[in-house]
Amino acid sequence: MDNLETKIFLHACCGPCAEWPVSELRNEKLEPVIYYYNPNIHPHFEWERRLENVKKLGEIKGVGVLFEKDYREEKWTGQAWLGRYETRCHMCYDMRMQKVAEEAKARGFSIFTTTLLVSIYQNHEAVREAALRAADRVGVQFLYRDFRDGYRKGQQMAREDGLYRQKYCGCILSLEESDFRDKIYAGFEGSNG
Ligand code: SF4
Repeated sequence: MDNLETKIFLHACCGPCAEWPVSELRNEKLEPVIYYYNPNIHPHFEWERRLENVKKLGEIKGVGVLFEKDYREEKWTGQAWLGRYETRCHMCYDMRMQKVAEEAKARGFSIFTTTLLVSIYQNHEAVREAALRAADRVGVQFLYRDFRDGYRKGQQMAREDGLYRQKYCGCILSLEESDFRDKIYAGFEGSNG
């Protein structure tokens, strides 16, 4: 029987952001199993590309990868957060942390965390609060770590591992706002052809 006490359910938003947390958790003698649950990543080609790179990281590091086929662009184009959340990012964190906590519990893990805590571009405190709320609702433990000190190191590790590193956060609105918008769309055309 697996020793689930030392395993940790690690939500990963993408391969590069998983690099540093995987190595840090292992330093703490916690063995991560990666869970890709990101219905916020648009368009669908990009959702698949990030998943493929999470799987690639899993192979390189010898980490198990689980994923959820969930994709919800309409929540962002329909501005589903209005009147319910402070910003679209608060909705985004809440959705993902709730599902991650539920899945961790359903799969027999007692503890979870997220690679969103490594990014210097995310609303770190809002991620932490969403994860704590989800943990409380579901009855599973959230391991809070501020991984941000390792952000640059993790990106360098991703470069060395040949992982794709995206130029926008994920949702269709963040793509539209990106300074690299035209370049990104051009890349989709090339890849889909
Ligand atoms: S900008 Fe990023 S965190 Fe915010 S809603 Fe979009 S994908 Fe989610």
